Amino acid sequence: MENQKSGSFEQVANSKYPFQLPPLPYGFDALAPVIDAETMQLHHDKHHQTYVDKLNEALKDKSDLHDKTLTELLSGLSDVPEAARTAVRNHGGGHLNHSMFWEILKSGGEDNKPSGALAEAIDRDFGSFDEFKEKFNDAGAKLFGSGWVFVVADGGKLKIKPMSNQDNPLLEGQRAIIGNDVWEHAYYVSYRNRRPDYLKAWWKVVNWDKAAEMFEKTRA
Ligand code: MN
Repeated sequence: MENQKSGSFEQVANSKYPFQLPPLPYGFDALAPVIDAETMQLHHDKHHQTYVDKLNEALKDKSDLHDKTLTELLSGLSDVPEAARTAVRNHGGGHLNHSMFWEILKSGGEDNKPSGALAEAIDRDFGSFDEFKEKFNDAGAKLFGSGWVFVVADGGKLKIKPMSNQDNPLLEGQRAIIGNDVWEHAYYVSYRNRRPDYLKAWWKVVNWDKAAEMFEKTRA
């Protein structure tokens, strides 16, 4: 269990140049039919790999940034020289977002729901788990273009935070607890243009144990 707790998301968040693609913690078909195997393979092996490659490319000649972790780069973006800033924001954000995404998912089921302190915080801040999901899905459906919907703890209170492109809440000094990728590449093979159907089905594969761990970190 200890190994699972110090999973690759934390390793990625604390890693430095040259960045590496973390292995998917399960098979490509593990989340089917909610997320099909073809989508998983393309998403991990091609899309995520490309964020890693482009981040490394952008930092190749910036040796003064090689001692900074991915978390430090994103939370201190204004300290990154302008020539590399957009690449760090987009590709560094993409690397961190996807590294989180793989880990907060797992083979799930209809009864998949949070428990413990996170469930209590959801009830407290949204009324109920159902109301929380509805607000989250609504934010995902309304997000124009490409981006993510995150849940963050803002001064102890849970908030739904839609962000564009590959922006991560670290850019605003917040840590994500969960996040759903609403770029078309995340759902188009199975769901075509029906993003709301993907958002609704996605809850079946959320790894609430990992989410609880992420929540605890925001309270540390
Ligand atoms: Mn993606």
